[in-house]
Amino acid sequence: MKPLARLLGYFQRYRIRALLALAAMVVVAISTVAFLFLVLKVVDEVLGAGASAGMPGLRSTAATQTGGALVRALERWYEGGRHALSAVGLGVRWAVPLLLFLALLSKNVFSYLSEFELNTIGLAMVRDLRREAYRKLLDQSSRFYAQVSTGDLISRMLSDVEMIQSAFGTKLTDFVQGILTMALVLVYVFSVNARLSFAVFIVAPLVLLPIIDNARRLYRTSTSSRERIGEMGGILVETLRGQRVIKTYAMEDFEAARFQMANDRYFRVSRRAVGLQALNSPLMEVLAGVGLAALFVYAAGLIASGAMTVGVLISFLAAVMMMYKPLKDVTRTNMALQLALSSAARIFEIIDGPNEIAQKPGARELAPFAGALRFERVSFRYGAEPVLHEIDLIIERGETVALVGPSGGGKTTLANLLPRLYDPTLGRITLDGVDLRDATLASLRRQISLVTQETILFDTTVRANIAYGPPDAPEDRVRCAARAACADEFIERLPQGYDTPVGEDASRLSGGQRQRLAIARALYKDAPILILDEATSQLDAESEALIGKALSNLMKGRTTLVIAHRLSTVRRADRIVVLDKGRIVESGSHAELLTKNGLYRRLHDMQFFAQSEPSSRAEPALR
Ligand code: ADP
Ligand code: MG
Repeated sequence: MKPLARLLGYFQRYRIRALLALAAMVVVAISTVAFLFLVLKVVDEVLGAGASAGMPGLRSTAATQTGGALVRALERWYEGGRHALSAVGLGVRWAVPLLLFLALLSKNVFSYLSEFELNTIGLAMVRDLRREAYRKLLDQSSRFYAQVSTGDLISRMLSDVEMIQSAFGTKLTDFVQGILTMALVLVYVFSVNARLSFAVFIVAPLVLLPIIDNARRLYRTSTSSRERIGEMGGILVETLRGQRVIKTYAMEDFEAARFQMANDRYFRVSRRAVGLQALNSPLMEVLAGVGLAALFVYAAGLIASGAMTVGVLISFLAAVMMMYKPLKDVTRTNMALQLALSSAARIFEIIDGPNEIAQKPGARELAPFAGALRFERVSFRYGAEPVLHEIDLIIERGETVALVGPSGGGKTTLANLLPRLYDPTLGRITLDGVDLRDATLASLRRQISLVTQETILFDTTVRANIAYGPPDAPEDRVRCAARAACADEFIERLPQGYDTPVGEDASRLSGGQRQRLAIARALYKDAPILILDEATSQLDAESEALIGKALSNLMKGRTTLVIAHRLSTVRRADRIVVLDKGRIVESGSHAELLTKNGLYRRLHDMQFFAQSEPSSRAEPALR
């Protein structure tokens, strides 16, 4: 579907409000015309220009007796109002200005209402779009996140959505109001003096053509301007995240230059857009000025010949001027709408983005894990290069399997297939005989805890980070998890204990503390299957013993796949699987693998494994 049609779909959820706004706009247009007509009356009857024009017999109807239906209706309304007011003792000098004021008051009250209503709709649409896009982002696959730029996504979610709000709020009000007012005012001017009107509106199309062309060019520039914003956002996010690396590598100048390049590109593209936008009004005013000068020459002739009163001319001029704003609004809206459509296309790209990990219709709930996890001839590739080749692996319930091997061998990739961060390219993974792709995502992921090398903590309290999940975490369960993760001691020492905010990126905590919080979170979740992906690889000596203890608490009674760098963890595993270049090259117990003299032995002899237990360091067999 085209972005416009889709946006209208969102719009029409609020059609009751839109109809209210439309009704208010009709009132505004009618009030505008009534106001114009009263200007005519004020000039001719209150100020006496009609009589002083040397036409003594010119009564109120005389100025407009040649006029069309609209003017005759206005005339009747005016006579009625004037009579009603004279009945309460108000003469023409008071009655007409009072009516004039009332028309203006009604115009503005209703224009307030319509603008408020339509802007509410714009905001509501934006809220709906953001909700859908955000939900979609939450469900997106890891492949999606590996490909997109965070900054670009942020700019789509915030500023692109904003463009739609502007177009469907303020700009749409202006547009519809403009069309309505222009239509009615046009009828009015033709009705009040057809000859003069024809003369003016032959010129009008000449004004419009260059403006439409301008809008078209603006659309193209603004699309690339949005893209440049996304690019800058991307650099910004990277900088904020990597500021420590940037500093220690003294890369400030390099990054500044990189940002400056994007910044300059944005500047150039936006300047072009701004130029086109700024050209719009002057272009129109100059062209309109030509018409205005000609109009005066022509009108002077008509008044001199008595074919028209001054009141008609003034009312006519007021009408033309009143059409100027709506006309400008209508062309502006065209631009805003073009901007909004290019933004909408970017939002819909998120909402429609293909998601390979989407849950199958009719997916089944997995029962609690009871039997075995099986990799059956699983192959996987991210791009062209295969990363895993025909992996066959069975992990029985309660078993601890250690996955070791050179970096880049595919260990993380293999682990990521379990919670379906990715799906196998070929082959399948089953849990108690059920293909993971046939299970609901929630029932699968509920059974798995994942602790990775880089711990992800949210910018909230320690408690909420441990009990990540439904609110109202039972206090004793949180404390129990913290204790088992050997985290309770340091948490108690924090200024507000469990209620201490960890801060963005948890930069106030040490690596070991963060790791223990992540372990506490996994303990709290209490899932039967545990994946540890180098969860201990970057810890300092102080934390090592603690983490080791925390991990053994965590692994107790669970089925664990541990990607390990520590000999202690590897040795404790029931089975060790060696993965190299995407293939399982060896598997067995520590002792078995050492006697095999294969890759494991070589890794071992190269002291590939960090040694974390004093006892293992003392063990001669490991030297
Ligand atoms: P390990 O955890 O054993 O160090 P990984 O599973 O992280 O290995 O990586 C295996 C291979 O897959 C590497 O060659 C790596 O470059 C590649 N790889 C990892 N993640 C991605 C990704 N998101 N996109 C493309 N290639 C990837
Ligand atoms: Mg890895």
